[in-house]
Amino acid sequence: MTISFTQIDHLYINGERVAPQAGTEAVINPATELVIGEAPVASRTQVDTAIAAAREAFDNGPWPRMAMDERAAIMDRMVDALVARQEDIIALIVAEVGCAQGITRMMQVMNPINHLRSTIKYARREEESERLPLDITPNIFAPDGPKNIGGTTVVREPFGVVSAITGYNFPFLLNLAKIGPALMAGCTMVLKPSPFTPYSALLFGEIAEEIGLPEGVLNIVTGGIEEGQLLCTDERVDMVTFTGSEAVGATIMAQAAPTLKKVHLELGGKSAMIVREDADVQRAAAMAVGFLSVNAGQGCAIPTRLLVHNSIRPAFVATATAIAAQIKVGDPADPSVGMGPLIRESQRAKVEHYIALGKSAGASLVCGGGRPAGVDKGFFTEFTLFDNVTNDMKIAQDEIFGPVGCIIGFDSDEDAVRIANDSRYGLNGAIETTDAAKGYEMALQIRAGSVSLNGGTGTMSFAPIGGYKRSGIGREYGPHWLREYQQEKSVFYPVGR
Ligand code: NAD
Repeated sequence: MTISFTQIDHLYINGERVAPQAGTEAVINPATELVIGEAPVASRTQVDTAIAAAREAFDNGPWPRMAMDERAAIMDRMVDALVARQEDIIALIVAEVGCAQGITRMMQVMNPINHLRSTIKYARREEESERLPLDITPNIFAPDGPKNIGGTTVVREPFGVVSAITGYNFPFLLNLAKIGPALMAGCTMVLKPSPFTPYSALLFGEIAEEIGLPEGVLNIVTGGIEEGQLLCTDERVDMVTFTGSEAVGATIMAQAAPTLKKVHLELGGKSAMIVREDADVQRAAAMAVGFLSVNAGQGCAIPTRLLVHNSIRPAFVATATAIAAQIKVGDPADPSVGMGPLIRESQRAKVEHYIALGKSAGASLVCGGGRPAGVDKGFFTEFTLFDNVTNDMKIAQDEIFGPVGCIIGFDSDEDAVRIANDSRYGLNGAIETTDAAKGYEMALQIRAGSVSLNGGTGTMSFAPIGGYKRSGIGREYGPHWLREYQQEKSVFYPVGR
């Protein structure tokens, strides 16, 4: 199948298709190692031009000055344009990321479009200003005289020019999760995707053109670290929103500090699933293996530490290993494949390094640990489980970003919560128990931005998601999503004179 997006040979700056000044870079299908396209690469000058365009569009263009409803009507057209291209986007993600088809359809493409729908819906409900109750205060200049009555209106205004920088693992989702709320709030944006997955961002240039976004509102550039640095340091940028690794997140914060930009960070995780003594072992093991295999473990919120009550740990290990053996690993162009490759050789080398670390630290390898037999192309790795892991091991503390699960035993609920919280991350968590009330109590004790109880997924578009500790700053999704991209201004006025 030809994927139309891999033919895109231009950047999108100030409402125009622009030829790249830094040439092109081959984009590889990680399952086949074949080139899927030669993507345009922006020069530093072009990043500068894109920032200038976003600044001009913010300072003098119509977008920030439109009523919420007017912007919503244009963003509705974005939803329609994405839905019309849904199959092409799915095919792109399968080729660009190497993610299995079922996961791609639901989690990489359809859910993100639903998130955009919910952003628009919430934005329509959002009051752009709020009147506070009247305030009666003494007159400071004449304390014995008549008192003052004062009114206050709080106005929510778009934050300004936003740089958005995103990672490779759920590229369409990550890009849309920046574009949707920022644009709905009235901001203008320069978006730079991961060099591994440029087309999932470049496609938004076509969409912007089609739906008639005013020039300069959404600019798409490409490139690597240097171009990203420019987006974090330029004085004309008001805010950086970033989804990627903890290390780059910290660098971005430092880069943004001299100009005191607002930073919104969605970073890595090492989330824990607690499997209590009373849990349904079959269900818990199926959940754990299912999560770990999503996008070959390249998911920020996947519970990669499996904390299992020692009384049921042998049964859990045996069940999880049997379920893992059913996963078909291969090229996700085949719809029956359940788990694709890692993104690049460098990521496979990192995963293999951690597997070696786990073995040398004394953890017991219960399945996987190598490369699938008979596959000579693609950056594949086996689904891997370690038992007898202690939480101080590197494999339990670091984000590996591959399908590697660490099983850690515990003897009491207190112990489980303590181990779950003994992490520098705090993105997500999960609890499996037949005592839902106890599970809820434990969920409240987990220091993480979300906790899934007995496989609950909730209404994700409507719930805020984000990190505690080194998993990030700020929230995406939920009823107050737009507020990340807004400033609040209080206007005080006298009443009655
Ligand atoms: P990464 O941090 O390596 O790169 C992300 C982006 O940052 C890329 O576009 C890259 O070019 C850019 N970049 C690198 N150095 C930069 C610099 N100095 N200044 C500006 N930009 C720079 O991340 P990745 O490997 O592509 O993505 C995987 C990571 O993302 C994992 O850690 C994962 O947990 C995290 N992630 C988090 C969430 C979340 O919602 N919390 C979601 C998805 C992925």
